[in-house]
Amino acid sequence: MEEKKVVVVTGASRGIGKEIALKYAENGYNVAINYVSDKTNVEELEKEFKDKGAEALIVKADVSKSEQVQEFIKAVIEKYGKIDVLVNNAGITRDMLLMRMKEEDFDKVIEINLKGTFLVTKEVVPYMMKKRDGKIISLSSVVGVTGNAGQCNYSASKAGIIGFTKSIAKELASRNIRANAVAPGFIDTDMTNVLSDEVKENINKQIPMRRMGTAREIANVVYFLGSEESSYITGQVINIDGGMVC
Ligand code: NAP
Repeated sequence: MEEKKVVVVTGASRGIGKEIALKYAENGYNVAINYVSDKTNVEELEKEFKDKGAEALIVKADVSKSEQVQEFIKAVIEKYGKIDVLVNNAGITRDMLLMRMKEEDFDKVIEINLKGTFLVTKEVVPYMMKKRDGKIISLSSVVGVTGNAGQCNYSASKAGIIGFTKSIAKELASRNIRANAVAPGFIDTDMTNVLSDEVKENINKQIPMRRMGTAREIANVVYFLGSEESSYITGQVINIDGGMVC
């Protein structure tokens, strides 16, 4: 029997990350995920992956803390011995207009979204290099491409992920490691549930498809980018936004 492939998805206790991990689990991968909050019911989460036929490693680790990232990836290698696909998904928002944004809110968003992507990727890539095979997919956002009032910290972090992705795609292509990003529009998760119904209605009016996306619609594209079906795609940013940016 062929050995199962292994995917690492950061910040996958809920929302888009969880849906991505479930998509991989359904398709025969073993999964390793992390989270940060104490609210996560690890046993319940583990059962959801087991029900899909996958083994799951679930670790509490903050992506912005290098020691915790090292421990997380060490645990993945100890359990599975390899990493085939990395999905840099963990992310937060701390929205505020520039003039009222606190320095700590700018720093926190950059640390988790952008530096976290750097720390996890740096830790994983040596294992991909060793076997001359790997796929890295990072979650950017439409606002990383277009900017958005009230999100200068978040937009900067997501624009940074695009530059990061394009750079490592060039560095790693000769080692048969591909790096791509996806830029979701407005997706129905806890991150957007904080918006009022009125704001959501206004957002929907600006989306040509007139609705928010689902986490599954992001997971499908991320899965494609981690598969051999996308074997000649690297350094790209795929918008998944119902036509918002085109
Ligand atoms: P979400 O529902 O808020 O979930 C965020 C996930 O990230 C949770 O699993 C959370 O873990 C984890 N996380 C947060 N900080 C972390 C840290 N320091 N270390 C490790 N894990 C951490 O968010 P989402 O909507 O699914 O978004 C997922 C990704 O897509 C993010 O990068 C986001 O920026 C991007 N995105 C989302 C949208 C959207 O409309 N939803 C649009 C564009 C891009 P806990 O459960 O432990 O807190």
